[in-house]
Amino acid sequence: LLEQAEARAHRTRPLNALVSLNPHAAQQADLVARRVEAGEALPLAGVPVVVKDNINVTGTRTTCGSRMLEVYVSPYTATAAQKLLNAGAVIVGKANMDEFAMGSSTESSASGPTLNPWDHARVPGGSSGGSAVAVAAGITPVSLGSDTGGSVRQPAALTGIYGLKPTYGRVSRYGLVAYASSLDQIGPFARSAEDLALLLSVIAGPDPRDATCLQAPTAFRAGTPDDLRGLRVGVIRESLGGNTPGVDAALQAMLEALRGAGAVTGEVSIPELSHAIAAYYLIAMPEASSNLARYDGMVYGLRVPGADVTEAMTLTRERGFGREVQRRIMIGTYALSSGYYDAYYSKAMKVRRLIAQEFNRAFEAFDVLVTPTSPFPAFRRGEKTSDPLAMYAADVDTVAVNLAGLPALSVPAGFETVGGVQLPVGVQFIAPALSDELLLTLAGGLE
Ligand code: GLN
Repeated sequence: LLEQAEARAHRTRPLNALVSLNPHAAQQADLVARRVEAGEALPLAGVPVVVKDNINVTGTRTTCGSRMLEVYVSPYTATAAQKLLNAGAVIVGKANMDEFAMGSSTESSASGPTLNPWDHARVPGGSSGGSAVAVAAGITPVSLGSDTGGSVRQPAALTGIYGLKPTYGRVSRYGLVAYASSLDQIGPFARSAEDLALLLSVIAGPDPRDATCLQAPTAFRAGTPDDLRGLRVGVIRESLGGNTPGVDAALQAMLEALRGAGAVTGEVSIPELSHAIAAYYLIAMPEASSNLARYDGMVYGLRVPGADVTEAMTLTRERGFGREVQRRIMIGTYALSSGYYDAYYSKAMKVRRLIAQEFNRAFEAFDVLVTPTSPFPAFRRGEKTSDPLAMYAADVDTVAVNLAGLPALSVPAGFETVGGVQLPVGVQFIAPALSDELLLTLAGGLE
């Protein structure tokens, strides 16, 4: 299986899904074979997986798509990756991503852009574009990404696969390089609800090394069509405007399928969602400015010499960070600075609270909520790179979920034909906190 995955990685090299191959993969596979021979029952015995390049794995490079960490080799393994290894998985390689997970297109990586397998002129979404393409292009059956504002769900939608953002605290963040700690969550990609359930069962669970990790059950299963009967599904009204015709059609077809299976559909309004993008970026950027302060040329990765410490630090950060990362550090620092804190950061935190409250109110009438995952299918490479606000707007349907800490799943929902090319479209289901399994039940029932 490992050889097949490596051969496939080689053949799909032009897609640039992987930043590096794991030099210890063959050794891991041998170890799994010995454990199986010794009678161990491993849920992922020999299954090749890929993890995003912001997840530490001992002895692999963890670049986070940044020049800053080009030469950084992980001295330890993230809990989620360790759980994969314990379950018998073999880590084939590390997946390409937007620099420090900041982006929606996987174009800002120091390793160059990842291409969408459905149309090489288009982006695969981001920031976990490499992890999504690894699965969509058949390198591995499953992979891990991270989702701070949509980075698992949106690339899953744009490449035609499943992607889950678990409830905040479901999966340990130990060893995941921090972008915005109150929003970050590791999530799996797969080609079926069943595989997604298996992967989540393996990576979820409490971790003494992550204080935000929850004590909660960790066995998940995908459902059957019977599970859909009587399920109350609410379409979020605010997500109905501004979508391409193919996205609207896919959502309507999904609702039709749900009703056909006995679910009850209705509409619900969450007015505060109009402020979700603003609140998200005013929380994510300050957290990022603080988290990225550690890249000072002294401890991790790149070190550019200077006349004194200040100059060395300045040069290191100037050369190590790309444009978007620098922009976010500056905006984040500004929003946190005294005199502006109340106007920006503190106000965004209030909006965050309101959004969470409104979701809870919506869940009084509905078991799950539904929206498109993205208002449009995969866009052209370069189309949004010179317009950061247009890039941020790609997350309009996903960021609120992270602000509220909820679980959400993007499922493949059809195609939109653009210029003669079929592009995948995804639909997002959102569940109450800790109801991750309901999403897998639903997705299994729809298959
Ligand atoms: N595109 C969003 C951002 O740039 C979300 C990224 C993510 O989920 N990591 O912040």
